[in-house]
Amino acid sequence: LAQLFRPLDMLGMVYREIKQGLIDMEAMFGLIDTPAEIADAPGAADLAITGGHVRFAHVDFAYEPRRQILHDVSFDVPPGAKLAIVGHSGAGKSTLSRILYRFYDITGGAVTIDGQNIAQVKQDSLRRAIGIVPQDTVLFNDTIGYNIAYGRPDASQAEIEAAAKGAAIHEFILSLPDGYATQVGERGLKLSGGEKQRVAIARTILKDPAILILDEATSALDSATEADIQSALGTVSQSRTTIVIAHRLSTITDADEILVLAAGRIIERGRHDALLAAGGAYADMWALQQAEEESAAMAAA
Ligand code: ATP
Repeated sequence: LAQLFRPLDMLGMVYREIKQGLIDMEAMFGLIDTPAEIADAPGAADLAITGGHVRFAHVDFAYEPRRQILHDVSFDVPPGAKLAIVGHSGAGKSTLSRILYRFYDITGGAVTIDGQNIAQVKQDSLRRAIGIVPQDTVLFNDTIGYNIAYGRPDASQAEIEAAAKGAAIHEFILSLPDGYATQVGERGLKLSGGEKQRVAIARTILKDPAILILDEATSALDSATEADIQSALGTVSQSRTTIVIAHRLSTITDADEILVLAAGRIIERGRHDALLAAGGAYADMWALQQAEEESAAMAAA
């Protein structure tokens, strides 16, 4: 009987893995319709990470042939550097991260990681190299420990706890009735937006990718939570190549380069101070956000 159950067990595991992968990807990218099949190139090799150097060279892209979304987008993120992407809703920010993850193939130009064209490497090796902290994390109906570990099912309890500490959620978990065995998700304990985001950060710490995509939440968190999350993100992005899709400009003043995207084109680029001094679109966005924050602070006072 045991012989019968082992394969069934395996099947169950594979099924759960696939389902989880799908849920997560959908959540990460807000995919509504299924993207076209992306296949590995014949004879594709594994991506060999040497430092995590990401380069977009003259990238053009369209979801549908008649509507081009990205136009001649080029940027270079050296190993360990931080690139921020800003721009109004619909500018194409998330599209850039979907392309890096190769959910879609581009129509012109090239995307390389450590000199290897991402269209020519095995997809699973590409996706192993990239960690994503999405805007809204989906939790599985399972324990909080399982939810942290699911990016690396072989992780030990000690590794899970170290990741939770790195994400500043360990203390919170210990305060729960069943600690790491506490059930969360739809049928368990509901976590707040900030707590869920910290679970996502802990997952990413366990996954230990060379390249990190942070899709910043648009919804405002209270300032203590925000500070905790920013500090956890600072820890996880240290020494990794990081691409931040930013909504609050105050979180990217330290970025090595900021791209301002409008209708799929880079209209400004540079560091925070230089962009402010240039007095263009970025400086306008900054002034607007400062004014909004001031009036929110006045309203709260
Ligand atoms: P936001 O800040 O609102 O998340 P964004 O800058 O990330 O916006 P994208 O999600 O990259 O914008 O979308 C860029 C453009 O691509 C938009 O005009 C959008 O309508 C279009 N688009 C996004 N996903 C798809 C899709 N699956 N099929 C067709 N068009 C899409």
